[in-house]
Amino acid sequence: MADGLRQVLVVGAGLSGSAVAYSLAKRGWAVTVLDQADGPGAGASGLPAGLAAPHVSPDNNVLSRITHAGVQATLQRAQALLQSGTDWALTGVLEHNIAGKRRLPALPPSGSPLAPSLSSQAASAAQIKAAGLPTGTPALWHGQAGWVRPRQLVAAQLQTPGVEVRWGQPVRGIERRAGHWAVTDAQGRSLGQAPWLVLASAYDSLALLQALPEVKLPLQPLRGQISFGHMAHLSAAQRQCLPPFPVNGHGSFISGVPSPEGPLAWFIGATFERDCTQTAVREQDHAANQERLATLLPALGQAMAKHFDPEHVLGWAGLRCTLPNRLPAVGPLEPQRLPGLCLSTGMGARGISLSVLCGELTAAWLNQEPLPLPPDLTRHLSAERFAPA
Ligand SMILES: Cc1cc2nc3c(=O)[nH]c(=O)nc-3n(C[C@H](O)[C@H](O)[C@H](O)COP(=O)(O)OP(=O)(O)OC[C@H]3O[C@@H](n4cnc5c(N)ncnc54)[C@H](O)[C@@H]3O)c2cc1C
Repeated sequence: MADGLRQVLVVGAGLSGSAVAYSLAKRGWAVTVLDQADGPGAGASGLPAGLAAPHVSPDNNVLSRITHAGVQATLQRAQALLQSGTDWALTGVLEHNIAGKRRLPALPPSGSPLAPSLSSQAASAAQIKAAGLPTGTPALWHGQAGWVRPRQLVAAQLQTPGVEVRWGQPVRGIERRAGHWAVTDAQGRSLGQAPWLVLASAYDSLALLQALPEVKLPLQPLRGQISFGHMAHLSAAQRQCLPPFPVNGHGSFISGVPSPEGPLAWFIGATFERDCTQTAVREQDHAANQERLATLLPALGQAMAKHFDPEHVLGWAGLRCTLPNRLPAVGPLEPQRLPGLCLSTGMGARGISLSVLCGELTAAWLNQEPLPLPPDLTRHLSAERFAPA
């Protein structure tokens, strides 16, 4: 492709947009990222800390296989760009298998495409004890998993040479004119144009797509709140109850990670509220997170009860943006009718685990390379699955 055509506008500088920008800039593309906010982390990617952890299922289903590939991609990116222990850590994650919901795949014949990841297995007695759970509690151990601070990953990906980021750019219109995509603000003023446009503006992608006839993307907002507090406020006895690794299975608990203000913190979350677009922190959501902790890690929940008092507990809320099959919409939407238009949105509750893989997939599509996933998985991520029949 001629260099003049290897120019792309990316709308949205969260995990999705920054991952697309990174992957395309590494391939020599000129990337301009536009975001309406003043800096990184304005949307869901402002989450103070979250998990990159695989999904497992007895038949190693599509979601499990895609998530496994996604987590591997994220961990490699984190290793390359971030400071271990401060921005991310490959700690392993214990999954408290509440109500026996999760089952590992049975071992298929070796070489089978269903071969499960050997990095997920039944948790050992020592791991269950270290989490503070009673002996015999059903639990899995995901060795290739850990915590990530999304804003740090976003900032690092945006620093890639070849990526230009323009903050304070609220995109309100997109239009194809003379072989280019033009983006405009609310007054119709030009914010940029390029042969390629990637919408990575999470739930807001819906409003931008509404300008195009017959495009219907079933994106939904899904509010979530986490509760957190500084480790320094815990007593020595409470600190002794903290598991040395994150625990998930009914929300997730993470500790020993720098808070947005700096000091080390613990985090529990998150709530799920469909079709709610409000991001104010609420007291009743702290109460829901307290119950979540009491179910996930009962002894710790009891020990930390007073840290959920409204005057002590801190909170952060954001909007996940979901699609019906819990997988994002990635790559060209309708290459014939809308050439040059791509999506990377709908990361749902797994943006840390999926966005890097989706960035690589988008870049491989645009750069006309072999795709990083087999076709039977790629079609479940392809934005084209939402094109009108
Ligand atoms: C409470 C909570 C807990 C979570 N926990 C985890 C977890 O443990 N593990 C995990 O993998 N995922 C988790 N997630 C999900 C993860 O945070 C998201 O999937 C991910 O951050 C989405 O990234 P994004 O770039 O698609 O969207 P966003 O981060 O929302 O970024 C969208 C960007 O687009 C910009 N934008 C929007 N509209 C426009 C416009 N019109 N013009 C210009 N710019 C625009 C916004 O300013 C924003 O910067 C959690 C989410 C929440 C809310």
